[in-house]
Formats: sequence, structure tokens, C-alpha cells
Amino acid sequence: MTNTEKLLRELIALPSVNPAFLPAKHPRAGERRVAEFLAATAARAGLDVELQAAAPGRANLLARLSPRGRARQRLLLAPHLDTVNAADEQFTPRTRNGRLFGRGACDTKGSVAAMLTALCEVARGPQRPAETEITFAGLVDEEHHHAGSNGLVASGLKADLAIVGEPTRLQVVTAHKGTVWLKLETRGKAAHGSCPELGRNAVHAMARVVDLLQTEYAAQLRRRRHSLLGCATVSVGAIWGGSQPNVVPDRCTILLDRRTLPGETGAGVRREIFGLLRRNKLTAACVDDNLPPWLPLETDPKLPLVARFLSVVGQRRPGGVRYFSDASVLAHGGIPSVVFGPGDIAQAHTADEWISLAELERGKGLFLRFLHSFS
Ligand SMILES: [Zn+2]
Repeated sequence: MTNTEKLLRELIALPSVNPAFLPAKHPRAGERRVAEFLAATAARAGLDVELQAAAPGRANLLARLSPRGRARQRLLLAPHLDTVNAADEQFTPRTRNGRLFGRGACDTKGSVAAMLTALCEVARGPQRPAETEITFAGLVDEEHHHAGSNGLVASGLKADLAIVGEPTRLQVVTAHKGTVWLKLETRGKAAHGSCPELGRNAVHAMARVVDLLQTEYAAQLRRRRHSLLGCATVSVGAIWGGSQPNVVPDRCTILLDRRTLPGETGAGVRREIFGLLRRNKLTAACVDDNLPPWLPLETDPKLPLVARFLSVVGQRRPGGVRYFSDASVLAHGGIPSVVFGPGDIAQAHTADEWISLAELERGKGLFLRFLHSFS
């Protein structure tokens, strides 16, 4: 068994479910166990270890390898330590047909294992990097509110490149979409169901809003293309209104999910939607402005460290993915970021999450080659 596989098996057996998905104080909740275990692993290889508070009771793990000379550039290896919840048996690692099964195998303890094993190997090897400081940053809370990446940015830490670990099938990803969630509400006037003409039906008003969003607005977005990401999208994910058949409903609410392309902002999306409603003589109010805006990622593939990583991986053109990641948080905090890791997002969050052991090892080898290029 390779060191990478061994570490990944140990990580799967240490639950680190995001506390947002479990009752308070649940024994499987939180990243602490994993952070402390990795801290010990990194310290044994001679890395400088620090736990960085990111949220109450939760800390990012920073494990740093300083260069032989003065640090002239900084590199971050930044996977997340938390996972979504899982059934009991998913916390016991199992191997079958070259695949390792267990919660976090691909999302994203596989990246953790590949990155840290490579960094520890460089630390133990004969030649440390000349003037590049390399830090493994195990981040908390990626699966919920990104407290880890936000905390890292707030700490003022600077770097020239962060490689954010996510299962990209070992494709260097420089762009992903952002997400805007809006809560819209229509108001009407309640009346007895037997005389609907005395009321104004808020559900009917919202039905027209939903129809407009899912047809005309969706078609408009399909014409807006990004070379790596395809089209922006809109989807109405929830609707509720009214209480019983014999009351004309006076209120109806929807939750809307809008995936944005680089250059689009939450404020711009809101303006666009309300302009469209107005032109169609429809009214709705935006009732919750506290829904988090997750910005799109677009990192210049020509940045020297990105170009170098692409060349080590042997990839000519960078990739794009649809899902959001910590890379956006770090990039908007001033750290140029790409997404990269072994495993396939198709297996993430599933009841039989797995990773290909060959791909895991290939990933570790690519990290190693990239890190060695600074020696
Ligand atoms: Zn992930």
C-alpha cells in the first residue's frame, strides 16, 4: 500500500462531517480530529504546523515548508477537511477493483492525502525548495459557509498561487460559475374561495413570474456563453404560498438559483430580473438580501505559476467546472487560485463515494513533480 492510500484510509476513518449537517455536539461533527491528525503527520515530516481559528471551535491547519533561502514566492495547497454526512459504513474505508470507497474519498480527502503526502516527501527529501514557501492549508467548512477560506483571507495571508483541492479528475480548472440565490415574494389580497373576484391571487401572480423566469429569462441566459463554462442558468428551486383551497392566497414565495458567469454580480442579476418583470408588467419583491453571493472564479491561465502547473500536468487548455469552491473565496481575497485534484465530482456526496487508487497516486505524483520544480 502506498503512503497516499494509507493516509487516505486513515482520513476516511476519522469523521469530519460539517457540523451544519448534524445535531449539536454530534460525535462525527467537526474537522478537529482530522486537523490534529494531519498536524501530527506534518510535524513528523518537519513542517511548521499552526492551527488557525476560523470559526468557534474550528481551525484551519497550516503546515509550512520554508525554502532554503529567502521566500520570494508562496504556494498554497488548499483542500477542505470537512465532508457531507454519510451512513455508518461509509466511515470504514473499503477497497474493491482498484477503487477506495468511503466518505470523503474524492471530496476531498483524496486531495488532502495526495497534497500532504507529496509535501511531506519533499520535506524529507534531500533538496528543499530554493525560494518558494509551500504551505498546506487544510480548510474547514467548505461544504457550508466557507468559514475556512474566508478566515484564511481575513488572516491577511498572501500567496502567489493556491491550488484548491476538489475532484477535477486531475484537470487544472481556472474558472467556475458563481451562485446567486434570491427569495422573491408576490403579494395579493385574501378572500373567501367562493368569491375569488374579491381577492387578488398571489399564487397566480407568482405562477406567471416563474413561467417568465423558466422560459424567456432562461432562453436569454442560454445566449450568454463563457468559453470554459458554457451558459449562465436559472432555476426556481422552491415555491410556497396559500394555506387551503377555500382561501385566496395573499402571499407566495419562491427561491431562485442563478448560476453566474465571470463578470456577473449579484446586484446585476437582481437588476436584470426586476427589469424583465417590469417590462412584462409583473411585480415581485426581493425579500431576503442575506442569502450569500458566491462569486464566479476566473484566473488568468497565463500567470507564471498557473502556466507552470499546467505544463507539469501536461494540459494545454485550462478547464472549467460548474460547481462553486473555496478557490473563488481565495481569489477574491487576492490569492490567484485554481482547482485541481484526483477523483470525479460525479462520485462526491453519493452513498457509495469512491476514488480510483491509480488516479490518486497519479495526482500525488503530479503534485510532487510540481513541488520539486521549485528546488
Ligand atoms: Zn469539495
